[in-house]
Amino acid sequence: MEGEKVTTMIQARITIPDKRTAFSGTTTAPLFAWPWEHYGNYKYLFYVALLAKYLYPTTTTEEGTEGSSWCLHILLLFLLRGLLYQLWSSYDYMFFLNRTRRISEEGIDFKQIDAEWNWDNFLILHAIVAVLAYWSFPSLTNLPLWDGRGIFCCLALHIGVSEPVYYWLHRLLHSPNLFTDYHWLHHSSKVSHPFTAGHATFLEHLVLCIVIGVPILGTVFIGYGSISILYSYVLLFDMLRCLGHSNVEVIPHHLFENIPLLRYLVYTPTYHNIHHMDMRTNFCLFMPVYDILGKTINTRYWDLHKDISSRKKTSAPGFVFLGHVVDIMAALHTPFVFRSFNSIPFSKKFFLFPFWPPTFLVMLAMWAKSKTFLVSFYNLRGRLHQTWVVPRFGFQYFLPFAADGINKQIEEAILRADRLGVKVISLAALNKNESLNGGGTLFINKHPDLKVRVVHGNTLTAAVILNEIPRDVDEVFLTGSTSKLGRAIALYLARRRVRVLMLTQSTERFLKIQKEAPEELQKFLVQVTKYQAAKQCKTWIIGKWTTPREQSWAPSGTHFHQYVVPPVIPFRRDCTFGKLAAMRLPEDVEGLGSCEYTMERGVVHACHAGGVVHFLEGWKHHEVGAIDVDQIDVVWKAALRHGLKPMQNFIVDKSCNWGISQ
Ligand SMILES: [Zn+2]
Ligand SMILES: [Zn+2]
Repeated sequence: MEGEKVTTMIQARITIPDKRTAFSGTTTAPLFAWPWEHYGNYKYLFYVALLAKYLYPTTTTEEGTEGSSWCLHILLLFLLRGLLYQLWSSYDYMFFLNRTRRISEEGIDFKQIDAEWNWDNFLILHAIVAVLAYWSFPSLTNLPLWDGRGIFCCLALHIGVSEPVYYWLHRLLHSPNLFTDYHWLHHSSKVSHPFTAGHATFLEHLVLCIVIGVPILGTVFIGYGSISILYSYVLLFDMLRCLGHSNVEVIPHHLFENIPLLRYLVYTPTYHNIHHMDMRTNFCLFMPVYDILGKTINTRYWDLHKDISSRKKTSAPGFVFLGHVVDIMAALHTPFVFRSFNSIPFSKKFFLFPFWPPTFLVMLAMWAKSKTFLVSFYNLRGRLHQTWVVPRFGFQYFLPFAADGINKQIEEAILRADRLGVKVISLAALNKNESLNGGGTLFINKHPDLKVRVVHGNTLTAAVILNEIPRDVDEVFLTGSTSKLGRAIALYLARRRVRVLMLTQSTERFLKIQKEAPEELQKFLVQVTKYQAAKQCKTWIIGKWTTPREQSWAPSGTHFHQYVVPPVIPFRRDCTFGKLAAMRLPEDVEGLGSCEYTMERGVVHACHAGGVVHFLEGWKHHEVGAIDVDQIDVVWKAALRHGLKPMQNFIVDKSCNWGISQ
């Protein structure tokens, strides 16, 4: 099939009625909601009860001991099932491995992540049903470890009962009434993901209990049941559910060409994704043969599968934000580790600590052998924006012997972006460190013919900081004052006739900046060498880490604006502290489901936003090296024009702003 048709099909969407909106959050269909819906993490107490039952059996008879081992099996199976879904989720988010074989090229947004947050409810339900089954059928307690005859029996029951039952029930769920009462929820996920498999109503998962339970219980009742069959069937069932809901085609097409029969026996991610796009076809559980018998197989499936599984290229991004890893803990804040954790702003959590040692080893491995990789993406006005990560951690940027390696990584990323046709690449945080590469100047000088524009984005960072300063301020105290941002902020404020107390020990560097200001404004720039000089000044702009003692010199009521990474610890209770310069992306951003480090949802660091503005404006210049003070207002106005919004870090009367923010 021609690529155009394939794309049309992938993009085809059927409007799902959002009942939550339509009915103001209330859904009345019986057995729609989960009984433990409002219990939060207390739902996991059921597993604690199982563990307690295993550790402290209430009876000491033989039956009692066996009953306890059953608890252990249920617990183990829950953990293994959860792990399997988690691993598959991780793989789905490893865009650097699978970007060419993604079925839908859209991203999973926060709305979908939140809707699927409790995807594991069905695991609890199945565990409860397993306990009830154990109480009802004591024969389950005496299963041998292995019985080979069970394989055929279980398989026969699956093919003969589970598959057709599911097929017809699924078709029934697509009847108008049942769909609008129940099945719409499963289909409300825009981009399929392994967790989507769990995203369905309580009633549907009760039905699924029968589908998964018949082959297990049937095999036991026939007399061929075993512990191995139980584990194998359940995990294989989960694996195939994950496979169907994966957004990555993992089954190579040549497998079907070599073994044609296989295509009727096992579905693929493309197969079930088609069902999510065109709900009139592909209803089967795992075996397409039932859709063939029911005449509901999608005729374009084979071509679509061939096209996706053998695809070599994918859409090139228009904009790339080139980040790096902050530290070991922050490394765990990536979509392919835990997507739900990545969908909220980063903060250190207890559950992260056990992952510290393995992540440290990963860091070493990345240092030894790894290239810049794609970690997240979103779409804005029809263009793809990606975040790539240089495989280096914050501390490595301060090791003199690591500098060349880091610059090589950044250079290779820029050249790759150039080859791909990327329009703008924005360097994040330490990737544009002055001492490392002169704010990106190194790469521009070395490769004068680059088509991709290299941007440090700090012009917008300066604009954001400057627009947070109330208009009636006539004196500020500035630390880090001779840095790239410090210099621009000082010169800009001098133009506005604000007295800037520039903290620096280097008179030479101070004078150099002072001379850049017009002669009549030079008096507004004042060199100070001690924090004590600012003890009357209530507006501090800090670009360097400050100790509690240094902060103590600020008068009560001071507001600390800051552009220091990581942000300072707010030691002063009687003062206020701003956050890092940031902007909210335009409201029409699509497929965004990832939080950028500590930023709120939808908010990016100002330098990222600066790159976006550069791209949206189609500017042809590189933005490297020193900040052009004349550009600060230009970039700010452009950002607002494109719908980026400043974050109100500091409550400022809007009429007090500099006037350039409207
Ligand atoms: Zn369906
Ligand atoms: Zn599905």
